[in-house]
Parts: sequence; C-alpha cells; structure tokens
Amino acid sequence: MDQKTEIKALKGIGEKTAALFGKLGIVTVEELLAHYPVGYDSFTEALSAGELESGTLCAVKARLHGGISSRKVRNLTISTCKVSDLSGEVSLTFFNMPYLKNVIKPDLYYIFRGVPTQAKGGAWKMEQPSVYTPEDYGKLLDTLQPRYSLTAGLTNKTVTKAIRQAFASCGELEDYLPAQIRQKYGLIGYREALYGIHFPENELALRSARRRLVFDEFFLFMVQIRRCREDCEGVESPYKMMETADTVRFLEKLPYSLTGAQEKVWTEIREDMQGRYVMNRLIQGDVGSGKTVIAVLALLMTAANGYQGAMMAPTEVLARQHFESIAEMTKKYGLPFRPALLTGSMTAKEKREARARIESGEANVIIGTHALIQENVVYQKLALVVTDEQHRFGVRQREALAGKGLDTHVLVMSATPIPRTLAIILYGDLNISVIDELPANRLPIKNCVVGCGLRERAYQFMQKEIEKGRQVYIICPMVEEGEAEGLENVVSYTEKLKRVFPQQIQISHLHGKMKPAEKNRIMEAFAQGDIDILVSTTVIEVGINVPNATVMMVENAERFGLAQLHQLRGRVGRGAEQSYCIFVSSSDKKQTMERLDILNRSNDGFYIAAEDLKLRGPGDLFGIRQSGSMNFRIADIYQDAKELKEASEAAELFLSGDISLSSLPRVDFRSI
Ligand code: ADP
Ligand code: MG
Repeated sequence: MDQKTEIKALKGIGEKTAALFGKLGIVTVEELLAHYPVGYDSFTEALSAGELESGTLCAVKARLHGGISSRKVRNLTISTCKVSDLSGEVSLTFFNMPYLKNVIKPDLYYIFRGVPTQAKGGAWKMEQPSVYTPEDYGKLLDTLQPRYSLTAGLTNKTVTKAIRQAFASCGELEDYLPAQIRQKYGLIGYREALYGIHFPENELALRSARRRLVFDEFFLFMVQIRRCREDCEGVESPYKMMETADTVRFLEKLPYSLTGAQEKVWTEIREDMQGRYVMNRLIQGDVGSGKTVIAVLALLMTAANGYQGAMMAPTEVLARQHFESIAEMTKKYGLPFRPALLTGSMTAKEKREARARIESGEANVIIGTHALIQENVVYQKLALVVTDEQHRFGVRQREALAGKGLDTHVLVMSATPIPRTLAIILYGDLNISVIDELPANRLPIKNCVVGCGLRERAYQFMQKEIEKGRQVYIICPMVEEGEAEGLENVVSYTEKLKRVFPQQIQISHLHGKMKPAEKNRIMEAFAQGDIDILVSTTVIEVGINVPNATVMMVENAERFGLAQLHQLRGRVGRGAEQSYCIFVSSSDKKQTMERLDILNRSNDGFYIAAEDLKLRGPGDLFGIRQSGSMNFRIADIYQDAKELKEASEAAELFLSGDISLSSLPRVDFRSI
C-alpha cells in the first residue's frame, strides 16, 4: 500500500464512509494524511459548577439531580436534565440521544464537556455536552486530540481512526529534504512531522511538526516562484503596444477621476505594455481601492491595439460580475470591446459558441474562471491576461500559458495586505505596484464589536435597513451542522433567521459546497436585490460588488483573522449610503475584544494585519488563519514570516545547485 492507494483499501473504511470522505475531497491515503486538523482539543482539569466560564469550552464534574425528561419536537428528541455539585447546578440539553438514561446514571459523578452559557438570572446551561466517566476523562487529561473539519455523517472519531489506520499501513514516507537542510534549519523528519501534526504528544511536538510542514509548503512554493521568474524575466515582448485615444477618452467619460495612486499604477502598466519585455506585474491594493478600473484600462489598451485580453476571476460569481460590468461599460462609454464569458457551468453549446468567438478573434475581451487557460481554448492573438483577487494563479497560469507557447503580458491583482518585505519574497516572480490610497468619496464604514446578547438588536437594525431598501450579509464560519462544536453554521442559521424575520423578508444562503450554477443563481438574485439577507461562509470574501448592501454581520468573529475580517468588511461601503459592520464575538474574553477592536480603529488592511500579529504574538499557533486569500494549506504568511524567509533562502540554495533533493514533490496549486 502506498500514498496513492485509495482509502477504501484501509481497514474499517467501506464504500459509504469513503463516499463521505470524497465530499471532503479525500480519495487517496495521501489526501487523507494531508487532511490536517483544524485545531486540537486539550482536555483540561474538570471544573466545579461554580467555576464555569461563559462561552469557553470547559468540563464540569457533577452528578444527576432529579430525572431526565424527554420530549419530541417533529423528528427531534430533546432531553433535558440538571446536574450539580456542592457549588452549583447546570441544566443540560441533549438532542437525539435516546439512550441517555443508559449513559448518565443517578448518584454517579460524570464529566460533562461543552460550552456553558449563563442566563440572565445566573443559571448555567450547556447544550449537547460530551459525557465521560471520570476514569475515561482521566486518560484524556493533558493530551491534545485532533479536531478535523467534517461533513454531515462523518464524525471526528471516524476521521481520527482512519488516519491512524493510514499511518499503520502506508509504510515508510520518503523525506525529500536532505539532512543538511533539516539540520541547518532545525527541522524534524517528514514522517515524524506528519504524524505529529495529527497526533502530537504535547505542544512542543506540535510546534516542531507544524514548523516542518510550514517550511515544506513555503519551500515548494518558492522553488516554483523562482523557476517561474527565471523563465519569464527578460522575455522579449511579442506584443508591443501603442497608446491610443481610447483610454484617454474613457477616462474623460468616467464619472470620477483616478486617484493619484491609480494614476501612478496605470502609468507603470502602460509603460510595461509599450516596453521591450513582457509584463509581469502585481497590483496590490486594499479592498475598494479601485483595481477593477485599472484592469479595464489595460484590457482597453490591448483591444485598441487589435489584440485579445483575458480576465480570470477565482470564482464563477465574480467572473460573471466582471463580465456584466464590462458589457455595461462597453455600451455606456462606447468602448471597442467585444466581450465573451467562459465559465465551467455554462452549457456545452454556450461554451462551444464562446470558444468559436475567441478562436476567430471576434471576441477581444474574454472573462472567466481558470477554465480560460485550462480548457481547450484557442486564442487568436492573446496579448494580456489579468487575474483578479488571487495571485496564486500567477505561477500556474504562467506555466499554462508557456505550455501553449504564449508569452503574454500578465497582470495580477491582489487585495491581500502584506508588508513590502514579505511581498518581495512571495511575489518574487512579479514586479509590484501598490495602490495605497482609497477614492476620496467614501463614507467610512461604522463598526461595532458585540457579544451574542446584542444579536436581537442587530436583527432589528437590519430590518430597518431592509425596509429602507438595503441588503445584508451575514457570515458564519461553518457550512452545516456537525462540522464543529459551538460555531454557527450557514444552513441552520438561515433556518433560524427565517423564523426570526417577517415572511416578506427574503433570506437565502451561500456556501462553497453548493454547485457552481446554484451559487451563481443566488449571487445574481442578491445582486439584483431579490434577496434581502444573504447568509454565507467566507466564499463571498473575494471581490463581490453589490453597492446596495449596507450591513455586514460576522458571527463567531473571534474565529477569523483580522485581515480576513477586513476583507469581509470590504463587501459593504461600496455605494453612496452609510454602511455598517457588526462583529459578533461569542467569547467575551478581554483579549478577544481588544483584538477585534483593532478593526474599529483602522480601515487600513496593512496596519490591521500587522497589529493583529503583534497582539497575538508568535505563540498563538492554531485556530486562526490570517490570510484567507493566500490559502496555503497550513502556512500563514503573517505568523510564519520567519519560516517564509528561511524557506526562501533554502530554495535559493537548491536552485543554485548547492543542495540537491532526492525528489521534489509536485505542488498542486489548486489545492493550496
Ligand atoms: P477593488 O480594488 O476592491 O477591486 P473596485 O475596483 O471594485 O475595488 O472599486 C470599488 C468601487 O469604487 C467601484 O464601485 C468603483 O466604480 C469605484 N471607484 C474606483 N475608482 C474610483 C475613483 N478614483 N473615485 C471614485 N470611485 C472609484
Ligand atoms: Mg476587485
């Protein structure tokens, strides 16, 4: 059995379980081992009922007080009981646990582990706690148990067991890094690291495991970046362009004038495209800094020179939105664009027609997802490729383009706020332009950070905004029930809201597990104002532009990196109306509140990310990922800046031939 073996071959995994794993994108043993925990449960000493802390996962040792009563609500069995010790009492609620009476017996002490909340009068409650005998709990004490992202029907236990089984049967795992490098940077072996990330013996072991895997991820990425730079630096441009009157006229007709920063960046791009070498440029600019219009200008110059330009977005929804706004501008400003859309969910016929228009040169601006370079699209004379909101396309895209024998100009747009020193390493294959100024006409977004207790008021506020004709986003960290304890999920939350709000208010939801066509339909309905409240995961994080949306509420805000919250906030405040952002924290710890308060103080993504890192310090390794749009599997460019620099140095050594590797694993940039 090796890494490529399907997990079905593992003991204890049948067709049904394998299908559930399939939903998480796990088919092979390798993919299973790469399903890293999203966090760890540390089992701390059980508390007495008097010591409970609201909103924090804890364990209480207590015994049954009175009986267990059960009632049925539709297909749900709800059981309640009270447990107590000398210091106090806690009410417990369980769902669909018909055998509860066999689990909790009178007069014996048990450990109940869950998230306690305190009612107004001071009474403690816990929903669906895990129940342990003191003996079982004792065995878990002071260990770190992995917590995995799950899907309905798949339990954490099943995943844990499967991974143990995989380690037991997959034999040796080759370490491609030579001992020399491992020593130099103090890295543990690959197998040890992989095992340690799933089943760490203690926190120290976990740190070493994580450090090695982070290093690997950066290292492989850096090698690709460097290779790419070598391949594309100084490539003679086959598409030298001239400036035409079209861009000037377009700028004159726009209802606003470019900001100084936009001007500067546009000049850099213009010079690149007129120059001797092929352009490889990154535009870095905070949300709302106006990157789209710069992309349109570059596409316009391309079209006016008789070439084709393509614009790729990370999601279909975003691609469609760009297409529509370019089609609209074409009409409104009389631009020489003949736009075409190409995305995965179009029908075969639609795709065929679009491809034909691209091949004949009839279409001169082509908008789509990465299908644009992956599928068999033949361009007549493609001279510019713009990618929006995801620089990670950069590398793959270069490869794909080179594979087609195309030396096109490349423009990458990113809103990920990172300091310049890191940017130079991470975007080593690109020249960097920064839009460091927001358009002046913006009303600053009003922010507030609240505890769960203020939800009702927030809902009332939303209803008022909706009555004024505005729209609302609500973000939850999880997709569906059963994925993680104590965190809000999109599906149940939407159901709940439908009961809270009057019927005429339209509520829908959106998440990454939905089919692309369904996602498009929902986003379009939202953009058209047919949906008042959209409950979503962070899939809406990138680039969506619905200026009529004025309220953004984020549930479990404490679970997100501040840079990511800032990106989410960028979805509102795009129109003329005052916009609001409500961060709901389910933890009232002082530290959490202080951290979230940084968002109140600043609207500057660079500043926010840096402050967040300072406040949390390098010790805070798990749980919160900062850089949503960079999407490394485990590495985080902010907290792992040190590893990033080391890996970059090691990549340099490798490429200069000073070290050799047994075999370099290929990185799948889609999964990163
Ligand atoms: P992002 O950089 O996040 O992609 P967009 O390009 O979507 O930002 O721009 C956000 C909004 O700002 C759009 O509605 C756009 O029309 C508007 N905009 C862009 N540049 C300017 C400007 N110089 N002055 C005023 N509004 C602008
Ligand atoms: Mg954008």
